[in-house]
Amino acid sequence: MAQDPARWAARGAYVHVPFCVRRCLYCGFATFVPAGRQAWAEDAYLAALQRELAFYGRCLNLAAWPPLQSLYLGGGTPSFLTPEALGRLLGLLRRFLPLDPEAEITCEANPESLDAEKLAVLRDNGVNRLSLGLQAAQDRLLRLLGRPHGWAQGVAAVKAARATGFRNISVDLMYGLPEQTMAEWRETLRRALALEPDHISAYELQIEEEQSALARRGAWGLPGEEETAEMYGLAQDELAGAGFGQYEISNWALPGRACRHNLLYWRDEPYAAFGPGASGYLGGVRFRHTSSFRAWLQAWEQWIPQPAGQEVHPALEEWEEIPAPLERAEAMIVGLRLRAGVSSEAFRTRFGTDPQQLWGPALAELQKEGWMENHGSRWSLPRRALLVSNQILWRFLPTQSRVRGDHG
Ligand code: SF4
Repeated sequence: MAQDPARWAARGAYVHVPFCVRRCLYCGFATFVPAGRQAWAEDAYLAALQRELAFYGRCLNLAAWPPLQSLYLGGGTPSFLTPEALGRLLGLLRRFLPLDPEAEITCEANPESLDAEKLAVLRDNGVNRLSLGLQAAQDRLLRLLGRPHGWAQGVAAVKAARATGFRNISVDLMYGLPEQTMAEWRETLRRALALEPDHISAYELQIEEEQSALARRGAWGLPGEEETAEMYGLAQDELAGAGFGQYEISNWALPGRACRHNLLYWRDEPYAAFGPGASGYLGGVRFRHTSSFRAWLQAWEQWIPQPAGQEVHPALEEWEEIPAPLERAEAMIVGLRLRAGVSSEAFRTRFGTDPQQLWGPALAELQKEGWMENHGSRWSLPRRALLVSNQILWRFLPTQSRVRGDHG
């Protein structure tokens, strides 16, 4: 790694908080259930995170970066932390990261672990956006997923957040659940809208093979492809009818409430990452920290600072310098997730060439098949292509990367 901030600077930062009260049955994320050892886990996490921040601070000259436009605390469940640990975490991040005073600071939270005291700590430490995992309005479905909360707790969490002064609240919902009916999904959407959120993410249930208890048990009662597509269409109609603009495949927002942090990902801009399992993209390098909490902790416990220029992150699981053809393809692929699509001009400014020159025949074929639209100098996916986007977007990958794309 180098110290040149012009090469390595990020526009935003992601911080992974790797704890949950228990593991949901579909979960494939990097998370750890501390059970009766919460105080130990929090102390160990914060001590290791401080070392990691200090490491990046030295190696990448964090203090010289332009101010970050977004900070995103994800998980796991950040709201699992005690109020005291949440305050320490945010204090640590403010100490090491150059945050713009107007930065969007998001904290993910789950209803079972959010209370008035934590909300006040988040607000007082500058968090200005909450992302709440509600998932479904039926307790039967929440139980089936192994979620540790009911719908009423979700409603109470949104109300408590508003009462604490949060003006920007997002809720996460899921469709394509085992045994979920269309009527239940409609009810979930309508009940979520009744909470008057500013932003809604709706994700199709993904069961990561062999990674989750749900996959090991065998996914019973999952809706078929056609029904899932109908559920997605229903979300598009209901949310549009309520004034929410769909700005990405799985995300809808009221005007001005699109998630600035996630837009960084889809605009293929650089972002820093901290914590176990966190992935980042800096200086043309994609990297991921080890997802095992214990391995990550141990690496930082045993870390001995090295002289400047010789430091190596002790808990990196993956590290890949992205070659130019793949970088262009990735920018196209993530950009097409946005309803606004990819601007040929912006693409040309960044890469010195435009999509038409690079993928002319593929774009023409997709257009002919009705899977691609071109408005002026913008390429975008039509509404019907959004749900099957993975089957379309791999065509932009360089040939040698297509195995990866097929699974994207
Ligand atoms: S809350 Fe999220 S990260 Fe935690 S166990 Fe459930 S799905 Fe996994």
